[in-house]
Amino acid sequence: MSLKSLELAGFKSFAKKATLSFDAPITGIVGPNGSGKSNVAEAFRFVLGEQSVKSMRGKRTEDLIWNGSDRMPRSNRASVKLTFDNARRLFDVDFDEVAVERVIHRDSSSEYLVNGSPVRLKDIVEMLGSANIGVSGHHIISQGEADRILSVNSRERKGMIEDALGLNVYLYKKEESERKLEKTRENINQVEGLRREVKPHLSFLEKQVEKIERAKDLQTALREAYGEYLAREEAYVKEIHARIDTSEKPLLEKQKTLENNLAEAKEVLSKLERADEKTRGVVEIETELKAARAEYDSALQVVGRIEGELAAVVRTKADEERKMSDEKEKTIPASIVLSHIEEIEGALLRKAVEEIILIIKRLREHVVSAASSLRKESIEMIKKREEELLEQKRTHEKDRDEKGRVIGDLEKRYAHLQKEIEEDRAGGRDAERSLFTFSNELSEVRVALERLRAEKETLKLEEEEYTRDTLEAKVLVGENNDRVHLASNESESRSAQKDRKKSIEKMKVRLEDAGLSGSGDVLKEYEEVRERDAFLEREILDLQKSAETLTELIDDLAETLSREFTEGVRKINDEFTKLFSLMFGGGTASLAIVREAVRRRRLSAGQAGVLEGEEMSIPDDEPEETEEGVEIKVALPRKKIRGLEMLSGGERALTSIALIFAMSQVNPPPFIILDETDAALDEANSKRYGDMIEDLSKRTQLILITHNRETMSRGGVLYGVTMGADAASQLLSVSFVEAVQVAK
Ligand code: ATP
Repeated sequence: MSLKSLELAGFKSFAKKATLSFDAPITGIVGPNGSGKSNVAEAFRFVLGEQSVKSMRGKRTEDLIWNGSDRMPRSNRASVKLTFDNARRLFDVDFDEVAVERVIHRDSSSEYLVNGSPVRLKDIVEMLGSANIGVSGHHIISQGEADRILSVNSRERKGMIEDALGLNVYLYKKEESERKLEKTRENINQVEGLRREVKPHLSFLEKQVEKIERAKDLQTALREAYGEYLAREEAYVKEIHARIDTSEKPLLEKQKTLENNLAEAKEVLSKLERADEKTRGVVEIETELKAARAEYDSALQVVGRIEGELAAVVRTKADEERKMSDEKEKTIPASIVLSHIEEIEGALLRKAVEEIILIIKRLREHVVSAASSLRKESIEMIKKREEELLEQKRTHEKDRDEKGRVIGDLEKRYAHLQKEIEEDRAGGRDAERSLFTFSNELSEVRVALERLRAEKETLKLEEEEYTRDTLEAKVLVGENNDRVHLASNESESRSAQKDRKKSIEKMKVRLEDAGLSGSGDVLKEYEEVRERDAFLEREILDLQKSAETLTELIDDLAETLSREFTEGVRKINDEFTKLFSLMFGGGTASLAIVREAVRRRRLSAGQAGVLEGEEMSIPDDEPEETEEGVEIKVALPRKKIRGLEMLSGGERALTSIALIFAMSQVNPPPFIILDETDAALDEANSKRYGDMIEDLSKRTQLILITHNRETMSRGGVLYGVTMGADAASQLLSVSFVEAVQVAK
C-alpha cells in the first residue's frame, strides 16, 4: 500500500485540520449529502497539482480556502498534505516516506513542498508521473464523471486511455519535441530569411571579389613581367654603360692625343707662316754682307796701299843705306823716280793729297840732297816713316780682319737662316700631311664620340625610364617586384625587351580598368558578409540537424506511443471484455482504434443533428487530415443493442465501470478514488461492483466515496464526514453500522 494519509487544513469545507489514514486496501468515505466528501476527492486533485479551479468546483483560487461561517472565521490559507509510503521506492527519491504538500493563500500564491522542502510544480508533476499518478488522471473519478469515458469523442477517449496506460510521459515528451521542432522550424525560416537578405549583397560582393581576384592575377602577371623586364633593363643599362665607358676612354685619350698632335702640326704650320720674316732676314743679311764686303775690300786696299808704301819705304831705306855706303854714286835711278811718279799717280787716283806731298818731298830729297849727313837724316826719316806705316798697317789690318769677321758672322747667319728656311719648308710639308691625317682621324674620333654621346643621351633617357618604371612597378605591384635572376651571359635583341614593355603597358591599362582601388574595404566587407552568411548557413545546418534529431525523436516517440498504445488497448480489451461479460452476465465489449477525419469530427462536433461518425461531404481535392481515436463496441447479452447511446443509465454506469477497471488493471495506479461511481447501480449490480473493487484492490489502493451499502461493506476503513452547526466538515472513523447510519 502506497497511500498513508491525507491531511487537510483550511481546504474548502475542512476548516480545521482533518487527517485520513489509509491503512486498508479499501477506504470508504461516507456521509450525508453536502457534508464534504467530494471535497476530500478534490483535496487529492489539489495536492497532486491540479491547476484548474473549475475542476475543483471553484471559480477562483480563493474558493478553495475555508470561507468561514457564522461560527467560524474564514482561513487565510488552505493546505493539503498527502503522505506516501516510499519503502518500495514508488518514487525515485531516497526517503521511506514522501509527503507532498500544497499550500495556497488568499493572494492566489501557491507553494509546493516535498518532505517540507519547497519544490516547483514541475518537480511534483514529474515525480508523480513517474509513479503513474496523474493530476486529473484516470485514477480520480469525480462524482458523475464515471461515464465520461463513454460520452467523450473517440480522440478524447484515446487520450484518457493513454493517460491510464502511463503514456502521458511520452506524449508530453512528444509534444515538447514537437514544440521544439516548431520553434526550430521557425528559427530556420527566420535564419533563412536573414540569409536571403544577405544573399544579394553577398553576390554583389562576390562579383566584386572575383573582379579583384582577376585584377590580382593580373597584378601577379604584371609583377612577373616587371620582374623580368626590370631585371633585363637594369642589366641592359649596366651593359651599355660599361660599353660606352670602355669605348669612350680610349676615344677620349685618342682625341686628346690627336688634338695635341694637331695643335703641334698647326704650330709647325703657323711657324711656316713666319718664314717670310726669315726670308726678309736673309735679304737683310745679304745687304749687310754686301756692305761689309765693300768695307772689307776698302780696308784691304788701304792695307795694300800701306804695304806698298811700306815696301817703297823699305826699298828707299835700303837705297839710302846703300847710297850711304856708295857715296860716289849719288845718283837717283830713273826707276826710283818712276816709282815715285807711279806712287804719285796712285795717290792722285785716290786723291791722297798728303801722300802726294809726302812723295814729292821724298823725291825732292832724292834730287836735292847729296850730302851723307843729309842722307842719314833721310834714313832716319824713312825709318820713322816705316814705323808709322807699320803702325798704320797693323791698325788697318785689324780693321780689315774685323770686317772679315763681320762678313764671316753674316755669312754664318745667312747660311743658318737659309738652312732653317730649308728645314722649315721640309717640316711644313710633314706638318701639312700630319694635319690632314690628324684632322681626319680626329673627326673620325669625334664622330665616334658624338655617336657615343648620342648613345649616352639615349641611355640616359632609358635610365630615366627605367627609374620611372621601377617606381611605377613599386606602386602597381608593390616593393617586391620579384626580379628574375639573369645569367650574366643572357642576351637578347632589344626588340624583345620593347615587346615586353608593350605588353606591360597593356597589362597596366587592363589593371587600371579592373580597378584595385578600395579593394581592401571590399575584401574586408566580403569577408564579414561571407562569415555572416557562413555563420547563418552553419546555424541553418545546426538547426536542420536538431530538427532532424527532433523529428527522429518524435517519430521514435510516436512509434513507442503507437506500439505501447496498441499493446495497451489490446490488454485493456481483454480485461474489458472479461469485466463486461462478468457485469452483464454475458455479451461482449471491445475497444477499436479508429482513424477519423479531423474536419469531419469538427463538423460533427459543431453541427447539431449530425451524429458522431456520420459521413459529411468533404471536397475530393482536399486531403483529409486524420486522427486516431478509440471507439467502444458493446453487445449486451440477449439484446440487439450495439450503440452506446441506446444503453440505460445503469448499463452505461456498468459499461464505464468495466472500462475504467479494465484500464486500471492493465497499468495499475498506486491508488484510485471513485466518487459515487456506484450511485446508479441496483442491488445485484452493486454486488458485482463490490466484487470487482475487491479484485481491483489487490493491485491498487482504493478510496471510495459512496452511499452504497454494498460498497461500504467492502471497505476496510470507513470515514464518516459530517457537517455541524459551524458549517465545517468533520471527519471520524466509523464502523460499518455507524457508516450505514451516517450515510443515511
Ligand atoms: P453529496 O453527497 O451531496 O455529493 P458531499 O458530501 O460530496 O455531498 P461536498 O460536495 O463535498 O458534499 O461538499 C459541499 C459542501 O462544501 C457545501 O455545503 C459547500 O458549502 C461546502 N464548501 C465548499 N467550499 C467551501 C468553502 N470554501 N468554505 C466553506 N464551505 C465550503
